Amino acid sequence: MEGVLNLPPAPTLTDFLTVLTGAGVSAESGIRTFRDAGGLWESHRLEEVASPPAFARDPELVWRFYKARWENASRARPNPAHEALAAMGAALAGRFVLITQNVDGLHQCAGSAGVLDMHGSLHRCRCTRCDTHYSMRNVDLTPALPACPACGGLLRPDIVWFGEMPHYLDEIEVALRRTTLFLVAGTSGVVYPAAQFVQMARRNGASAIGVNLEPPDNIACFDTFIQGRAGVVLPQLAAAWLDADKS
Ligand SMILES: [Zn+2]
Repeated sequence: MEGVLNLPPAPTLTDFLTVLTGAGVSAESGIRTFRDAGGLWESHRLEEVASPPAFARDPELVWRFYKARWENASRARPNPAHEALAAMGAALAGRFVLITQNVDGLHQCAGSAGVLDMHGSLHRCRCTRCDTHYSMRNVDLTPALPACPACGGLLRPDIVWFGEMPHYLDEIEVALRRTTLFLVAGTSGVVYPAAQFVQMARRNGASAIGVNLEPPDNIACFDTFIQGRAGVVLPQLAAAWLDADKS
């Protein structure tokens, strides 16, 4: 039976909670990763549709891939893990930061504010000429190559591709310096630089809590590891912590 016997102590008023989420948190909303699918999309390797050289070579193929992923993400609904983190963020406002490796927008959909989506978002695109950012809803996606409403330049998905620098690294570093509790949920601990964040937080004196279906590769970095589905464990954690915060 899934259930948490020994929950880590609730954050106190002087605590700052930083959370990092990965694919495991979205899996329960039906968002599959390409590792699940053998790393392939329509027989293309992920590098062939998710890298700057791929976009330069065949932007129509890359756009077809991201339009399909955007439609899929738009149909998905947040699950209890997303809702638990939104509740934590609301209760700990001002001493809470949520970092995600997911690009599906489900944390924002659940009501989380200020999400640092370090790998970008399927719901945004940006102009390769003038760098204006758009919500995908606000651009005409009918053409095979969507164009910037402002300057006519070629739009690209606002996704961090292979070989590109993740977003928000400065903001993440500030959070990892400030944080006293670092909660990592639904990541396998293999994608860098995110896998190193737990070490950075611990060097700065934070305690680290891991939640995952399987023990992550970097399990030795955690003070506490809770094995289970994020959609089960995080609501338990939120309930225990937020009740304690009220009393
Ligand atoms: Zn433009």
